[in-house]
Amino acid sequence: MSRETVGTPVSTLIRGWAVDPAAGREGAAELEIRDGVLVRVTWLEGAAAAGITPDGTLITPGFVDLHAHFREPGNEDAETVATGLAAAAHGGFTTVCLMPNTTPAIDEPSVLARVREAASTSGSPVRVLVHGAVTHGRKGETLAAMGELADAGVVGFSDDGAPVRSAPILRNALAYAGALGLPIIDHPEDPALTEGAEASEGYVATVLGLRGWPVAAEAGAVARAIAILADVVRDVPGARLHLTHVSTAASLAHVHAAKVAGLPVTCDVTPHHLGFTDEWIAGSRRWAWEALDEDGRARDPWTDGALVARPFSTALRVNPPLRSAEDAAACLGALADGTADAIATDHAPHTEVDKHVEFGWAINGISGIETAIGIVLAAVESGGLSLARAIEALTTGPARVLGVPGERNGVAPGLREGEAADLVVIDCGASWAVSADALRSKGKNTPLLGRELSGLVRLVIAGGRVAHTEG
Ligand SMILES: [Zn+2]
Repeated sequence: MSRETVGTPVSTLIRGWAVDPAAGREGAAELEIRDGVLVRVTWLEGAAAAGITPDGTLITPGFVDLHAHFREPGNEDAETVATGLAAAAHGGFTTVCLMPNTTPAIDEPSVLARVREAASTSGSPVRVLVHGAVTHGRKGETLAAMGELADAGVVGFSDDGAPVRSAPILRNALAYAGALGLPIIDHPEDPALTEGAEASEGYVATVLGLRGWPVAAEAGAVARAIAILADVVRDVPGARLHLTHVSTAASLAHVHAAKVAGLPVTCDVTPHHLGFTDEWIAGSRRWAWEALDEDGRARDPWTDGALVARPFSTALRVNPPLRSAEDAAACLGALADGTADAIATDHAPHTEVDKHVEFGWAINGISGIETAIGIVLAAVESGGLSLARAIEALTTGPARVLGVPGERNGVAPGLREGEAADLVVIDCGASWAVSADALRSKGKNTPLLGRELSGLVRLVIAGGRVAHTEG
């Protein structure tokens, strides 16, 4: 495999522990790929399966990211579509949905065409899908050319980077997008509550002297969006609301209640809100699940002696902010019980210049598409999440948010015979050191620099062609 280069059709035989959420199946398996086509999937039993365990070679469908920022056009110093796609493949993603907060914003089809052109000249086999802007220039004033964008093939609408501030506009957007059969991907934030905010409101922010970012700024926006959806869906049954990067227990309680009520609402959580907490800003580097006491409360990093890194690393400044260990546990619990449908990276690469400032002045965002699977596998290792559910949240979960397989925009992750192979092979027994050199993204803004992550992505096949190989 090692000689194969990106873009080449694959012929190979792979044995390992396969997890296929589409088939609801997990176990030892052998996959045969010929000229890019998955010709045979054999589930092994008895002696043939001996020695094949989930902590060795793991085979899953290619990951789907609902939320990534590739910065082209407009900020190619931070990322280009080509470097973003290489980073995505390195992280095991074979489908990425790009956010429209480029410069100019993707609020009409010509900008979308530029992004597609960049994807096609990159030579990457990773599938690129694009969300269109909800409003012109993402200014929140008038709706973007939603119908034309839908005709041009966007898979959802979002003003991400910012919320849709105006309730009447959100209401119209949910109705129009619903009539077009597409979801609104909402960034839930009440900006009146977050002006000047630096870190999640609470003990850590108080001790560090950072201005608090209240949980209510997100939970209130989530509740508002759900209330508007409940109204809209009566007239427009196709209306769909997807809440992205949900980070608090309070927000997840609203989503849970809305789902119980049968509303068409879905949500995702990010790897960094699962694995990191606000105490990382103080200099802790323990995983979120290691920062809880037996009663499920956040421990005190100062009395615990958990502070091992320099405080105020701007790699940790992100919107929504890193939360308490209790909120991180709620995000993990929501994935486990299905309240959260997907893990989305919110991959947000930035230049050194934009991060090399005081904490409160630093631009928001973490470069995360390459480290997502490492954080998720660590969460699985902790016992808080099953492997099957984790892989579902990276594959069929996000695909369902995009729509029904087979229909327009349908993405159908799965290990199916007779289809182009689209899968990831991970060596769970191997680890890699996260470093500026190892990251394919131009964005080196991750607090994991210098850390070893278990789970080395060995091979990624997208649409039957090599997207990434290692070793
Ligand atoms: Zn956002």
